[in-house]
Amino acid sequence: MTHAPILPGATIGVLGSGQLGRMFAIAARRMGYRVHVLSTEYDTPTGQVADLEIRAPYDDVDEVTEFARGVDVVTFEFENVPTTTIEIVEAQVPVRPGGHVLHTTQNRLREKNFLRRAGLPVTEFHEVRALAELRSLCADGLPAVLKSAAWGYDGKGQSMIREIGEVETAWESVGSDCAILERFVDFECELSVVAARGLDGQFVHYQPILNIHRNHILDLSVSPSGLSPDVCRQAVEITREVFEQLDVVGVLCVEMFLTRDGRLLVNELAPRPHNSGHLTIDAHESCQFEQQVRSVCGLPLGSTKQLSPAAMVNLLGECWVFGEPNWASALAGKGVKLHLYGKRDALPGRKMGHITVLADSTREAINIAREVRVGLLSPPGEVGTPLKAVPEP
Ligand code: AMP
Repeated sequence: MTHAPILPGATIGVLGSGQLGRMFAIAARRMGYRVHVLSTEYDTPTGQVADLEIRAPYDDVDEVTEFARGVDVVTFEFENVPTTTIEIVEAQVPVRPGGHVLHTTQNRLREKNFLRRAGLPVTEFHEVRALAELRSLCADGLPAVLKSAAWGYDGKGQSMIREIGEVETAWESVGSDCAILERFVDFECELSVVAARGLDGQFVHYQPILNIHRNHILDLSVSPSGLSPDVCRQAVEITREVFEQLDVVGVLCVEMFLTRDGRLLVNELAPRPHNSGHLTIDAHESCQFEQQVRSVCGLPLGSTKQLSPAAMVNLLGECWVFGEPNWASALAGKGVKLHLYGKRDALPGRKMGHITVLADSTREAINIAREVRVGLLSPPGEVGTPLKAVPEP
């Protein structure tokens, strides 16, 4: 298998067709690559901007083989691609990050065991395979969070257990015969480090990003984070260690909790660009998607220098509750950059887009971002009126 760089003009294959693939495809096409996406649907966020959208189930061996035949390298934009699909592709072209990275990170139990074995600080957890086991673990201490081992993201397959009476409902709602029970972390804050590693081992990282979740879904990301230099240094060292020990070529994000007594605990790994890193598109010299292109193609990685303080807010389906959002109002805001993912159905909790605000300080960026999001719900007649500080919806 070749280790020569895959140069512009070549074709990159993407497994998965959501917004992460879309922003990757935009970065790749800007750099002169062609992009083919394998998707289970048509007219997807990635398919809309790719050169070719192949519609097939991930376990369709013939279609997957045909997809791999048409590309020079393959990457993925979500973790839940079956391992067998990756094996078929890997037999024909390089997959970056490699199938071993996907295998570890697509299952919470494997991921946490990897982190523990690697000697990295991880949230206290136990494997659970039966209701009786769960009951006895919960008797040892609550609150705790039950998470299915497979197929979890954005709080899906998760259930908070505050008291022993909730155990049975939690077990049923997670609906899996393999789960993990995590001690609830009373954290000071949540942060993430997005980084990239090249074929030659070159490692670059963005500074830790501060994240605020709402209903288990990322709501706001901010950089610079305002965290102490010591915490930032430790967070980056943990991230570097993950890349080395997992032998990652590509982009990966490490999500962490900072506990009230100042310890960092890894919550989750995402072996691809991450929602918290979307602000790098507008605020940094090379964004996380460009780093993905560079790393999977075996090219030198780009600069992670930050050009401006930034805040990013997600636009979930709820922003459409009164009809089409007032885009003109939002775009009248200072330093506002709008990103929409081309999704048609604005369902509650669905990530439809995001807004990044660039400002002189993070405080100012946060204030503008929140005001702008509220302004989206205003009637069209209010286009361009100065935004007032209003409470979050
Ligand atoms: P996850 O899908 O594991 O990334 O969880 C989504 C969000 O749920 C996290 O970003 C946290 O805000 C919250 N969460 C998950 N696990 C825990 C935990 N053990 N303690 C406290 N909060 C948690």
